[in-house]
Amino acid sequence: AVLMRSVSKWYGQFQVLKDIDFDVAKGERVVICGPSGSGKSTLIRCLNRLEQYQSGQVVVDGIALTDDARSVDEVRREVGMVFQHFNLFPHLTILENCTLAPMSVRGFSRKAANETAMRYLSRVRISDHAHKYPSQISGGQQQRAAIARSLCMNPKVMLFDEPTSALDPEMVTEVLDTMVGLAEEGMTMICVTHEMGFARRVADRVIFMDRGQIVESAEPSVFFDAPKHARTRLFLSQIL
Ligand code: ATP
Ligand code: MG
Repeated sequence: AVLMRSVSKWYGQFQVLKDIDFDVAKGERVVICGPSGSGKSTLIRCLNRLEQYQSGQVVVDGIALTDDARSVDEVRREVGMVFQHFNLFPHLTILENCTLAPMSVRGFSRKAANETAMRYLSRVRISDHAHKYPSQISGGQQQRAAIARSLCMNPKVMLFDEPTSALDPEMVTEVLDTMVGLAEEGMTMICVTHEMGFARRVADRVIFMDRGQIVESAEPSVFFDAPKHARTRLFLSQIL
């Protein structure tokens, strides 16, 4: 579903991504972890061209990302993304947040968009809050609304960038449970997170990044119990 070949990116003299090769198959769940500044957000933002890169190739769902705006639009239509902050439009209700893109980008009628939105809002258990504004619901509810909003576009791939790290502890579980549900339904997912319980439970593969490189990539049992690289072991000893 997702393929990255020899992707490199610099900010001035500083190389933030170093020749990254990365593949995610359809239905696969990949967790990316690593120290702050290692390039995790940059990597996943390159997958939908929220970031430019200077060399290499990215292909998402068969669409090669080129500079041509059409390929960027095509890819963004297929890729849902949930960030740490600023996921919802504050001036729109939760329902309006969920229907905006399906109506404007996919050409859904309001009725069809509302029905789809309410179905996903029920699934993440916030349909009762559909007519509230983001500021009127909790952070955990906002993140679940953001997930529902992405799902309304029927994405092929979901990208998550530390969706729980800004939440109070009691709200982390409800968001992770929503993500586990998605994983169980077979969604292709790439998640930057330090929630290692989540990684163990749902990831097919865990990737450790450090200084712009993929240092280690292994299934959870190997990754957590027998990591090959000293840098991975050091990182795990610091967060577990
Ligand atoms: P965190 O865990 O803190 O979110 P990360 O692994 O997601 O970190 P990135 O946000 O991808 O890291 O950043 C990687 C590196 O690129 C960092 O050293 C950061 O300072 C640098 N960087 C990011 N954005 C810019 C920018 N716009 N200009 C210059 N340097 C940047
Ligand atoms: Mg980041």
